[in-house]
Amino acid sequence: MTAGILSFLSSFGSHLPFARKTFARGVHPASNKSTAGTPLRRMPFAPRMILPLAQHIGKPAVPTILVGQEVVRGQLIARADGFLSVPLHAPVDGVVEAIELMPSARGPWTESIVIRTYEASTQEVRWGEPRDMAALTPAEIIQAIQDTGMVGLGGAAFPSHAKLTVPKGRTIHTLVVNGCECEPYLTCDHRIMVERTDDLIQGIRYAMRAVGAEKAVIGVEDNKPDAVAAIRARLPADGSITVEAVETKYPQGAEKMLIKSALGLEVPAGGLPSEVGVVVNNVGTLALLGRLLPSGQGLTERVVTVTGPGISRPGDYWVPIGTPMRHVLEWAGAEDVTEREIILGGPMMGQAIASLDVPVTKGVSGILVFDRRDIETESARKTYACIKCGECVQACPMGLNPSMLGLLAASSEYDRMGSGYHLGDCFECGCCTYVCPSNIPLVQQFRAAKGVLRDRAEAVKSKLELHESGERFDFGHKEGEGRKPGGSRHPINPPPSAKP
Ligand code: SF4
Ligand code: SF4
Repeated sequence: MTAGILSFLSSFGSHLPFARKTFARGVHPASNKSTAGTPLRRMPFAPRMILPLAQHIGKPAVPTILVGQEVVRGQLIARADGFLSVPLHAPVDGVVEAIELMPSARGPWTESIVIRTYEASTQEVRWGEPRDMAALTPAEIIQAIQDTGMVGLGGAAFPSHAKLTVPKGRTIHTLVVNGCECEPYLTCDHRIMVERTDDLIQGIRYAMRAVGAEKAVIGVEDNKPDAVAAIRARLPADGSITVEAVETKYPQGAEKMLIKSALGLEVPAGGLPSEVGVVVNNVGTLALLGRLLPSGQGLTERVVTVTGPGISRPGDYWVPIGTPMRHVLEWAGAEDVTEREIILGGPMMGQAIASLDVPVTKGVSGILVFDRRDIETESARKTYACIKCGECVQACPMGLNPSMLGLLAASSEYDRMGSGYHLGDCFECGCCTYVCPSNIPLVQQFRAAKGVLRDRAEAVKSKLELHESGERFDFGHKEGEGRKPGGSRHPINPPPSAKP
């Protein structure tokens, strides 16, 4: 997120009293969840829908329809291209107008299927055969999940079937279900927990069978007592699924933080949750799987929080995948959008968009509309030198030293950031930028540094591939140079294993 928005938020942040289970460090931004009490609503279809083939992590989907072909809501329109890929389904009844490059949040031009919506299109999904879920093996459940086209709806857009595939040699004892929704403003998961509780419990059962977990723990921040109560009222009597109220704190919903809070387990640096016998999934993802899997249907819509100071009808809406942003904002009452800053996702980790022609994709959890003047005022705040106050170190949930990382970024010492100061463990939560009194855009520097290191790694990989294919290259340094061994995790902060 931009430094301007993070400092805009920090200008009215508050510290809440210590609550229940939690992790070390983190921050308490003002929640601004004004839509939490408003029931889910539907958004009407836009006249044209834009479906990027790459709206998930992995290989883009491959179209299975032709331009000019009629499609019905729920019909398969693009198949998965291999294991790390998911299919796409038509969100409306209509006709395929084009398969061409269109703007998307991933970049200015992404290959997309464009569907002109028939005026008579209804909410009915006329595609998909009901499935007997009780008869499926774990491998068949994984395949069924891939067939829905489901990805992590919390924002990561990682294919759900891949996330629920247990790596060879590992055993999963617990499914951790992420109902924290720790980003300010967002309430889509909250409303789903309250209104779609049965679907959620059903989806949790399917996921438990897929990974072989004996128990599931739903972690919900303690600012959502109605969600905790709704879930508790529907928990199975055998105790296999429980709900834990965890402290309201950002980034409580980050995987490693939630595992620490809910189970007291520490995922090793650079490791995956499966290393401690855990898989994490988001409540929105599981609730939709609970509905789609038995009906044999694909993902055609999701819940999106549309809110912010620039919206007159804020709320949580069922939005068809592929709906252009302009249509969503008009419907939600955004006025004078040229004077607005529009963020996809939450304000801490979301992404600003420049074009209103960008469509809602599977990973869009929120559309936040701010007054551009507020953001610009904060962005224009002067940046000062680091005063070594240690606030960023106290805030970093990964136990890193953002101050030192920032100094190294300023002097372009990217290799040292990676090898000596664990830049790879930074998951860009923005806590350090949020608390920095000198207004240093730390997380932006870290993102840029990671980009440089990625490019360098790609360049080395290409050279190695050429080398293996018979070419000879002079790498310009001796083996082992450019890597600094070990190094303390950080000089002034205790390790993340320290008790909160
Ligand atoms: S260094 Fe990375 S993980 Fe730590 S607070 Fe900053 S953005 Fe978050
Ligand atoms: S919070 Fe900012 S000023 Fe304070 S130590 Fe970190 S980078 Fe320096």
